Amino acid sequence: MSDKNLAVLFKSAVIDSHAYHVPDASGFIKLDAMENPYSLNDEFKQLWFDALNHVEINRYPDAFLKELVTSIRSTFNIPIEAGLVFGNGSDELIQILLIALRSNAKVMSPVPTFVMYQYLSNMLGLRFIGVPLNEDFSLNIPLMLEEINEHQPEIIFLAWPNNPTGIAYPKEELIQIIQASVGLVIIDEAYNAFADDSMLDAIKDYPNAMVMRTLSKLGLAGLRLGFLAGDQSLISELEKVRMPYNIGTLNQLTVSLVCKHIDILYKQTELIRQQRNVMLNQLQQLETVEVWTSNTNFILFRVTDHSANEIHEALLENKILIKNVSMAHPLLKGCLRVTIGTENENKTFVNVLKSILRS
Ligand SMILES: *Cc1c(COP(=O)(O)O)cnc(C)c1O
Repeated sequence: MSDKNLAVLFKSAVIDSHAYHVPDASGFIKLDAMENPYSLNDEFKQLWFDALNHVEINRYPDAFLKELVTSIRSTFNIPIEAGLVFGNGSDELIQILLIALRSNAKVMSPVPTFVMYQYLSNMLGLRFIGVPLNEDFSLNIPLMLEEINEHQPEIIFLAWPNNPTGIAYPKEELIQIIQASVGLVIIDEAYNAFADDSMLDAIKDYPNAMVMRTLSKLGLAGLRLGFLAGDQSLISELEKVRMPYNIGTLNQLTVSLVCKHIDILYKQTELIRQQRNVMLNQLQQLETVEVWTSNTNFILFRVTDHSANEIHEALLENKILIKNVSMAHPLLKGCLRVTIGTENENKTFVNVLKSILRS
């Protein structure tokens, strides 16, 4: 090994950043990452294993993603006039979008929000402009419009509903932003399965708006598949950035099969929605907890007479893992984010939280 510091070869944005932290969750009740706690049933698994028998893993995947495109279009009712590009998770789509932008482009998002928009912007040397939300995590529309006007960002990311707040902004506000923007506006609908509305049907009216979805929160986080729908001419450019084989044969096959049995997942997400409302109700009863209604499969709450770190640590001691977001942004002071798990996991979480708050 050379004793020279070879790390100096890298961008300072890389050297100065921390790798995205994923805690080891073995042995824990895992309520930190917005996963669907249920798995696919045995009947599906049998069909799946049978289909795998025919896979030619020695060949490159279908570069045209033919079956995948057909399945996704019909399952998610993608408007016929919209084009589609696929990513290895929507994280990769964010990366593809940012790589495609002209140099010195500006990236804007209301904050706090999904961290990858800023993280990937930094890595690619793009300027990220975060526009603070209001204290109640609603959009500060006058400020957004002012910042858009001043910076004319090439791209705006709007997580809708937002992570980590769980809030879905009024649709009219999204449209105001789209209309005020000369750049692209990406509506990130990662939590669509738990929300009540979509912008998918509206994109044909707004050529600069695109809708991004992922199968992760729906129940296939381990698979990695995201898609972006929008104006065909934009999609054609993004297709040049996408690596031809980014979606492996096993992913293509599995997603196409899941699409045929999508009701399995929709039943699970319906259960998760019900459980979310149960937990919301229980947390709202707690005097020293401030809680926000959620259009997602997680709940953001603030503890008012303990520190968030204390609560997070005490939960860890009880083998429960949630996400401490209190340090992620000043507006999130005292806040923690819990993912909805199974009924039993949720019960355990609420009971342990109550006992911690009493101590
Ligand atoms: C989880 C999440 C994603 C990333 O999803 P993957 O498809 O798993 O990469 C994107 N956007 C938001 C807002 C998310 O919360």
